Amino acid sequence: MTLHDAASFSALVDQQLDAAQRGLDALLELPSGATAEEVSSTFDGIGKEIGEVSGLSELFSAVHPDEAVREAAEVASQRVSAFVTELNLHRGAYERFANLDLEGELSADVRRYVEHALRDYRRSGVDKDDATRERVRLLQEELIHIGQEFDRNIMTGGRSLRLDEGHGALAGLPADFLAAHPEDADGSVTLTTDPTDFLPVMLYAERDDVRRDLHREFNLRAFPENVDVLNRLLAKRHELANTLGYDHWAHWACEDKMVGTAEAAREFAQRVSDRARPVGESEFGDLLAELRTIDPAAERVEAWQSRYLAERVKRRKHSFDSQSVRPYFAYAKVRDGILATTETLFGVRIERSESGSPWHEAVECFDVFEGDRVVSRFYLDMFPREGKFKHAAMFQMRSGVSGGAIPEAALVCNFPGPTESDPALLLHDQVTTFFHEVGHLLHHLFSIHRFHGFAGIACEWDFVEVPSQLYEEWAWSAGVLQKFATHHETGEPIPVELVARLRAAEEYGKGMNVMGQMLYALFALTLYDRDPAGVDPGELLGDLQKELTFFEKVPGTAMQCAFGHLHGYSSNYYTYMWSLVISKDFASVFGDDLMSAEKAQRYRETVLGQGGSDDAGVMAAAFLGRETSFDAWESWLQA
Ligand SMILES: [Zn+2]
Repeated sequence: MTLHDAASFSALVDQQLDAAQRGLDALLELPSGATAEEVSSTFDGIGKEIGEVSGLSELFSAVHPDEAVREAAEVASQRVSAFVTELNLHRGAYERFANLDLEGELSADVRRYVEHALRDYRRSGVDKDDATRERVRLLQEELIHIGQEFDRNIMTGGRSLRLDEGHGALAGLPADFLAAHPEDADGSVTLTTDPTDFLPVMLYAERDDVRRDLHREFNLRAFPENVDVLNRLLAKRHELANTLGYDHWAHWACEDKMVGTAEAAREFAQRVSDRARPVGESEFGDLLAELRTIDPAAERVEAWQSRYLAERVKRRKHSFDSQSVRPYFAYAKVRDGILATTETLFGVRIERSESGSPWHEAVECFDVFEGDRVVSRFYLDMFPREGKFKHAAMFQMRSGVSGGAIPEAALVCNFPGPTESDPALLLHDQVTTFFHEVGHLLHHLFSIHRFHGFAGIACEWDFVEVPSQLYEEWAWSAGVLQKFATHHETGEPIPVELVARLRAAEEYGKGMNVMGQMLYALFALTLYDRDPAGVDPGELLGDLQKELTFFEKVPGTAMQCAFGHLHGYSSNYYTYMWSLVISKDFASVFGDDLMSAEKAQRYRETVLGQGGSDDAGVMAAAFLGRETSFDAWESWLQA
C-alpha cells in the first residue's frame, strides 16, 4: 500500500467508491424473493467497501504530512459522505429491507441487522416524499461542508503569545520547557496555544498575567472565523431535524443512544452536576484560600488561576508535585510498558511491523499476534508536527470483518518526542491519555464480526468512552506502573507511596472537573435542544458557566469557536460522563486485581469482542452479572 501521494490516494478512493456503487447495484438486482440474510449481507458489503476509504480519509485529513494528500482526503470524505447520504435516502435500497418477511426463523444477528437498517432508514428520512428527501440531501451536503470548515478553522486557528521578557516571564516552568522554548535574538519568547505549551503554562507559570494572557489566546482559537460557522451549523442541523419530523436536533441525536432522549440526557447531566457540587464547593474553598496566600485581598478565583492553584494545593495537601513523577515516564518506556500490559492482560503478542505503510518517519507500526497469526495492526503517530491534528484520538482505518483483511487503526497523540539528548519525560496525565487511547484501540481491534456494520466500534455512541476510560484505571495502579515506570537515570521503579500520593493529588479537583464537564454537556444540549435562532452561544456559555461552575467566563473570550465536539458530538457531550459512570462500575469488577487475565478475557468476550452485535446495556450486564449502577461512580466521587 503506497497511498502517500495525492494521486494514488484518490485512485484508491475511486476504486472503492466504484465497488460500493456495484454493491448497491447488486442489492437492487436481488430477486424479489431474496431472504433477509441475502439482503443484509449484500447491503453490508457496501459498508465494507466504503469503510476503509472513509477511515483513511478521516485519518489522512488530520495527520498526513503532505498537504496535497490532506486536501485529497478532505475531498474523499466529502465524496464518501455524499455517497452515504445518497444510500441513506435510496428508496429502492430501503424497500429491499421494508419488503422482507420478518415473521419466519432468523438468526439474532440478521434480525438485529434488519431492524437497525430499518431504524436508520427511517431516521434518515427515506420514507418522506421526493421534495423532502431532496431537501434532506441538500442539507446533509451543506452540513458536511460546514462541519469541515468548523474543524479546519480549529486546526489552523491556533494563536500565540509573545513575551518580551523572555524566560524572565516564565518563572515556575520546568527546565526542559525552557530549553524547548529558547529566547529569540531579541530576548523574547513566543508561546503557542497548542496543548504542549498551554498545559504546562497553566499549571506552573507563577506570573498571573502570563497565564491570563495565554488562557485568553487559547479561548480565542478559531475566533472570529467560527462564530458564523457555528451559527450556520446549529441552524442547518435544526432545519434538518425539523425536515425529518423531529422538534430539534438533540431529539434526533439522542434517539439511537443508550440514553434514548434529550430529556434523559439533560436529567443525567443535571443529576451528575448536582452530585458533584458539594465536592466541588470544598475544593473551590481550597483554591480561594490558596490564592489568598498570594493575594490576601483576593475575592474570587479566575479561570486561568484554577489549575495553577490546584497544583499548589496538591503540593501542599498531598506533598505532591506533578513534575516529580516525570523522570519515571520516559516516552519509550511508557509505550513499551502499555503494550506489554496489554499483551499480558489479553494474551496477545505485539511486535514492530515492517509490513505497514507509515505516512511519516516518526510513525511506528505494530502487528498484534495471537499464536503465530497476525490478527490486527496499528500505528502510533505520537508527536506534534506542523499541520497535524492537535489532540489525542484513535482513528479506525479498517474494521475487522470475519474472513476479510485484518483490522487496522492509528493512535494520534501530541506527546513530546524523544531525541538523542532528551528521553521525553511525560506527565502522568499524558500516560493516562496513552492508556485511554489504547482502550479505544483494543475495542476497535478486538471486535471482529461477519457484518461490517457490527465490527469495530459499532456500539451506541454513549458507550464508546467506556473501554477508554476503563483502561485509564491501569495508569493509576502501582502494581502496573512499577513494571515499566523506572527512573530514566537510576533505573529504580516508581515508589508505591509516590503512586499513592500521585493518585490522591491528581484526583484532587474531581468535583470541580465533573462540574466543568457537565457545563460542556449542558451547553451542547442547550445549543441543540431548541430552535437556535436568537440564541447567542457566547452569551449562553457565560450564563451557564455562572450557574454551573464557580468560575466566570473571561470577558471577550469565545471558547465555543474551538469546541470541536460541537461538530463531532453535536448535542451529545454528556456521553463522556455517561461512559465514565459505566467504566467506574466495570473497574469495580477488576478491583485491585487489574492484571487478572481471567477478568480481562471475560471483558474481552462480553464487551470488546462484541462490537455492535448487541445493545450496550446488554453487553454491560453480561460483564457485570447485573444491571449497571451509579454506586461505583458515587464512591469514586466521594472518596
Ligand atoms: Zn476517548
